[in-house]
Amino acid sequence: MHKGISIDDAVKILNTADYNDKELYERADKVRREVYGDAVYIRGLIEFTNYCKNDCYYCGIRKSNGFATRYRLTSDDIFECAKEGYKLGFRTFVLQGGEDGYFTDKVMCGIVSRLKENFPDCAVTLSIGERSKDSYKALFDAGADRYLLRHETAEAEHYNKLHPESMSLENRKRCLFNLKEIGYQVGSGFMVGSPYQTIDNIISDLKFLTELEPDMIGIGPYIVHDKTPFKDFKSGTLEQTLRLISILRLMFPYALIPSTTALGTIHPKGRELGLKAGANVVMPNLSPVGVRGLYDLYKDKICTGEEAAQCRGCLERRVETAGYRIVTDIGNVKK
Ligand code: SAH
Repeated sequence: MHKGISIDDAVKILNTADYNDKELYERADKVRREVYGDAVYIRGLIEFTNYCKNDCYYCGIRKSNGFATRYRLTSDDIFECAKEGYKLGFRTFVLQGGEDGYFTDKVMCGIVSRLKENFPDCAVTLSIGERSKDSYKALFDAGADRYLLRHETAEAEHYNKLHPESMSLENRKRCLFNLKEIGYQVGSGFMVGSPYQTIDNIISDLKFLTELEPDMIGIGPYIVHDKTPFKDFKSGTLEQTLRLISILRLMFPYALIPSTTALGTIHPKGRELGLKAGANVVMPNLSPVGVRGLYDLYKDKICTGEEAAQCRGCLERRVETAGYRIVTDIGNVKK
């Protein structure tokens, strides 16, 4: 296995204000090519509900945002999205949503097993927030393969500035270790440039990731949403996100690292630059066009207007321009 750089080396890079970022991206790209070649994995993202019982201060679909128009997809809707995605070459479906009480274990297990029965050569990834260990186990037994749950920030003091008292970092971390113990391929990550974030917070994020050793690491810039308590804060920057993608690639050569929609939102070439800085996954939207704009986590989110096929084609071109190649296999981690 390719050994990554140490946390101390990562901290040195982070603390060097005038670090040559171009060189850093090239170094990360070299490592990424040694492990994954020029392959970019695609995941079909299905945003199936924007109802949420939580009230995260940064998020546009938080419970208290009375301006949000709420929707939830049915099992049939989700199945149709997946069918369309399968035809387009997707072999991973990511079901993401707010923490919506409608999707009990029974309902969710039904959706997962239906997907796995109909598309046995595909992976099902869930990204539906914090649940009990029993719930995670039931979903795993129903066929879910992977789970994405960003820790958001690894220091309690910062976590508590981003979330109401009803939520805790302790529980979020416990969820991540539970998922791992059950046998999921686990993804975590954090927002870059979130309100009150310091360099020390970021160092703690990197340290936490070395403890968790996730298969997937998702980071993206924090982006303001006007209907949240954080409406007057600044968004995170392209440069810092790219630098952190490179650092993560150097620390975790094996990891699946997406070039996120948030990165594509703050800069027209954000996702291409993310790939060149070390990312190796893209997640085109498979949600029905009619609801896409409603999964409104942050301002000016891209990819809300096109059909799935258009999204797929657009990303294919972007990936090629950046110098890589989309592969349509299931895309498991190379650990
Ligand atoms: N309910 C699920 C999915 C949350 S949405 C969960 O709790 O995991 C997926 C991710 O979007 C979040 O983990 C968060 O990191 C990111 N996100 C939310 N609001 C954002 C914002 N304003 N800017 C950038 N990213 C945001």
